[in-house]
Amino acid sequence: MLLTRPMPDELAVAHEGRLAVLNDCVEVCALYNLLEAELAQRGLDPLRFPKLHQLALVSGLTPHVYARLHTLLPATRVDCRDGDDAPHGTETSRQSKARIRRSPQTMQAYCCPTCVEEDLREWGFSWFRRFHHIRGFDWCPVHRHALSAVDSSSAFYKLPHQWLQEGRTSPIETAEDELVAGGVLDRYVSIYMALLDRDRPVIRSVIRPKLVAAAKTRGLATSTKPNLFRLSDLVAEVVPARWLTRHIASWHLKIPRTFLQHVDVPLRGVNDRAASDAVVLAAAVLLPSAGEGIGLLTGSLSAALQVASARRAPARGSSEAVVA
Ligand SMILES: [Zn+2]
Repeated sequence: MLLTRPMPDELAVAHEGRLAVLNDCVEVCALYNLLEAELAQRGLDPLRFPKLHQLALVSGLTPHVYARLHTLLPATRVDCRDGDDAPHGTETSRQSKARIRRSPQTMQAYCCPTCVEEDLREWGFSWFRRFHHIRGFDWCPVHRHALSAVDSSSAFYKLPHQWLQEGRTSPIETAEDELVAGGVLDRYVSIYMALLDRDRPVIRSVIRPKLVAAAKTRGLATSTKPNLFRLSDLVAEVVPARWLTRHIASWHLKIPRTFLQHVDVPLRGVNDRAASDAVVLAAAVLLPSAGEGIGLLTGSLSAALQVASARRAPARGSSEAVVA
């Protein structure tokens, strides 16, 4: 089997696609057969490992490092119950195992034409980055303009520059033209970028009381009682309606001064599970700066800010450094 390591921030499913093309696999199951044969040749029992772990092992990375650097787990697993904070890629609960096993074949692919230009100049080819695939990211966080969607159900079997050359991409229509510096969505993007480097989620009981305190400071109700101004009402005032309609499936159900589960649940009890994007949106809306949101959701303000700034310009050879 021909092998290639993942590029910096390359999405696992895109790395899988590049491996498939490199090995002339038309169907993904042919690649899976090759992966299993490769691991068996190394004396490992492939059936012991989910596909994500198989990709990690043939890349010379531990499953934990591969999951942290090349999957959306740090973005989809922002907070958790006490005791459930195993490092990304090593979770043991049934739900988490299912998440690791899942290979997002049907995922919509996005790219940034300017990132592609820079990749071609620097590397001679381009790749799909995970920070173009986080829920709510209509823009490239590096170049701050709208992402383009790839018009194909098998987008990850070609590279972004190939889709651009074929004219099979179109800018996201519902995105504002640019990410407004210092606005709520700018804070949302900055917080999420810092979270991408986290190796595990934060504990809900640590962060939720702080979100509730920030909400109360803003005069927001945190109970489910009707006819009170709450987080989702503030969100409606400060976040563009087009973004809310595009990214929050239940937003059309929002009635002024009533509880909207997806948006308001992060301010309920610490046992209430909330979607990660809702937790990040709450931090972006309630806290006055991205830095404070990052500090809250990572517990390490200075380290998080350093990571966010370093990620804006990945150094040549950084993927090799991970393996070394
Ligand atoms: Zn870009």
